[in-house]
Amino acid sequence: MAARPAPYLDELNPAQRAAVEALDGPVLMLAGAGTGKTKALTARIAHLMQTGRARPNEILAVTFTNKAAREMKDRVGRLMGQTVEGMPWLGTFHAICVKLLRRHAELVGLKSNFTILDTDDQIRLMKQLIIAENIDEKRWPARQLAGLIDHWKNRAWRPDQVPASEASAFNHRGSELYDYYQQRLKTLNAVDFGDLLLHMVTIFQNHPDVLEQYQRWFRYVLVDEYQDTNVAQYLWLRLLAQGHKNICCVGDDDQSIYGWRGAEVGNILRFEKDFPGAKVVRLEQNYRSTPHILAAASAVIDANQGRLGKTLWTAAEDGEKVRLIGHWDGEEEARWIGEEVESMARGTRGLRPFSLDEMAILVRASHQMRAFEDRFLTIGLPYRVIGGPRFYERMEIRDAMAYFRLAVSPDDDLAFERVVNTPKRGLGDKAQQKIQMTARSNGVSLVDGARILLQDKGLGGKGGAELRVLVDAIGRWSDLARQPEHNHIELAEQILDESGYTAHWQNDKTPEAPGRLENLKELVKALESFENLQGFLEHVALIMDNESDAGEAKVSIMTLHAAKGLEFPAVFLPGWEDGLFPSQRSMDESGLKGLEEERRLAYVGITRAEELATISFAANRRVYGQWQSALPSRFIDELPEAHVDVLTPPGLYGGGYGAAGMAASASPQIMTAAESDLQERASRADVYNSPGWKRLQARSQSRPMSQPRESRSMVIDAEAISAFTAGDRVFHTKFGYGTVMGLEGDKIDVEFDKAGGKKVVGRFLVAAAEAGDVP
Ligand code: ATP
Ligand code: MG
Repeated sequence: MAARPAPYLDELNPAQRAAVEALDGPVLMLAGAGTGKTKALTARIAHLMQTGRARPNEILAVTFTNKAAREMKDRVGRLMGQTVEGMPWLGTFHAICVKLLRRHAELVGLKSNFTILDTDDQIRLMKQLIIAENIDEKRWPARQLAGLIDHWKNRAWRPDQVPASEASAFNHRGSELYDYYQQRLKTLNAVDFGDLLLHMVTIFQNHPDVLEQYQRWFRYVLVDEYQDTNVAQYLWLRLLAQGHKNICCVGDDDQSIYGWRGAEVGNILRFEKDFPGAKVVRLEQNYRSTPHILAAASAVIDANQGRLGKTLWTAAEDGEKVRLIGHWDGEEEARWIGEEVESMARGTRGLRPFSLDEMAILVRASHQMRAFEDRFLTIGLPYRVIGGPRFYERMEIRDAMAYFRLAVSPDDDLAFERVVNTPKRGLGDKAQQKIQMTARSNGVSLVDGARILLQDKGLGGKGGAELRVLVDAIGRWSDLARQPEHNHIELAEQILDESGYTAHWQNDKTPEAPGRLENLKELVKALESFENLQGFLEHVALIMDNESDAGEAKVSIMTLHAAKGLEFPAVFLPGWEDGLFPSQRSMDESGLKGLEEERRLAYVGITRAEELATISFAANRRVYGQWQSALPSRFIDELPEAHVDVLTPPGLYGGGYGAAGMAASASPQIMTAAESDLQERASRADVYNSPGWKRLQARSQSRPMSQPRESRSMVIDAEAISAFTAGDRVFHTKFGYGTVMGLEGDKIDVEFDKAGGKKVVGRFLVAAAEAGDVP
């Protein structure tokens, strides 16, 4: 064996090196966040190839996400240089199983060119089955069945293996329908996602010759994030590795965050039983985070019971304490984080400058992203959303927006096409073709085409009746949208109700449905910053157009789940409030299971940070135009005081929001919009008396933060137009920062930094007194 220099070994500590060099037999690396598990796993792949133990394609490495797979490929490529031809089998469970299943499809009654159904197809198919079986689809929706079957597949149960304890599922017909569904898939030569693994497990179990072939072939198996494998994945791995028994799994029981999707943390705890004689390597040195960050994360996770418990230490310098800041409300939180990201990019408060690429905002629930996206767009801060579509690209948001578009311009044919049969109105392809043809032959829009078609009695039955309801509703909405005195937020809610779109998701029993409903609420909330629907739609159109250059540095926004395995020098963790994080669902559950999974998520969040972690919460959140007060997350109480700096929220003692700010407000003569807003807020005494706000005040100590710029400023009413003169710096709720060029009648001519020259009314303009940045 050629003894080539192996620089990748020099970068490892002795424990990591031991794990890399123990090439034969089972190895378990069980260690806390940031201890270099992934780094060691990558080095191990390089080492296997470098030492000639295995040809690249005899190595099987499983990662949790495609992104992780790509990164590992890059890293292995870099470690190996140009020396090795070919690459290992490196990918997610699903990606690897597709490849294998294509080769052996006939063993489960499929052809090798089988199609993979997406969720929509899957649900359509189940719906057909439910209808064919005369089951009341309203009470027993297809999505619920889809969730159930998915759950069974994750547990590696084929239809005949579903245990008796599940017999009552789906009105006692669950496993029977599961069976029909699988037969139907076979006829269609199709699989769903869950099948990819289940079929491979079936093939391995029923065809020992095939299993043996792969057991021989894959001399080395490596698995990252092992704590999040579900039963099907676990069985598949165990079967494969029983040949050479050269399996190396790495993971952290404290980071198991996919229990809700069937992951079994027990898999990692059972490893030594499954693979007797396993070498267990524990890594204790953390290379990612400062001592303060590590101490905070350790204290939080310590509150979980039934963990293995680990020691973590770091040689890093103390650095900054974890920062904790409470805000008045969610918008204020987004505003503050936007300002903070900007000032950190410049390098303030004795911190080094952070590039935007080095900063990330990790949220508990995807609907939280909207406030940040809107805010960052307004101030022109480049950002990317990782692991999922951006807020306005989500399906339910696009659907809802299509309804809004129809209210504003009923002739918007694309919007009409999108929602004519969403939710289902019994308007299939044929009916839609009829509408199209009528519209075309009369030279009118689709909605008018539909009207003519109905007049001519060209469409009857349920579909016809429902189309009539829709067309009438569009007429009504557009009348209302044209009346300036009609409140556009109420109109939006009315549209979502009357169209049946909200109900459509309320009746939906899948795990995603609550999230989609949350997003819809969030959408309505977004309307509050606009005068009317039209203005809002323009804003979103601008946003969608705003795809910035690929190479540009951007701050990242993602969910905590998507952040697993990643690291960033500076991390913001917003929304630490009971009911949001931990989620309401986990708090309502009896027992600690859900809550402990949330706490592991908190641990994952804090441990993503290398140098600076900033946790925040809001005392109030606005839901459907209603204030709801919130308690700071119980996880905040678990943060160790010695490692936390409590920052003063900008609204508490400064000149911006809050009662104190009101007294200090600059201009007593003019009742500015900001002041009337303050009064309105102050009059809601219940909010000031809310436990969340009180605790926030109690916790806030003396270190004052710099004020966000516009929280020191005032909103000027239209009458106060003369308050502006050319050259003034201003801030507009929609167009961001700009400079006043002059006054024209009741409008102000502003050259905006991002949006260019515009004439705007004073009501939405703020004098940006940029004196805010005093440390
Ligand atoms: P997680 O549990 O979050 O997935 P992990 O255990 O996989 O974390 P890695 O991502 O592999 O940790 O490593 C964390 C950071 O520490 C990386 O930046 C990595 O390059 C660095 N690191 C790991 N081991 C060493 C080492 N021996 N010397 C210097 N830096 C190291
Ligand atoms: Mg890792």
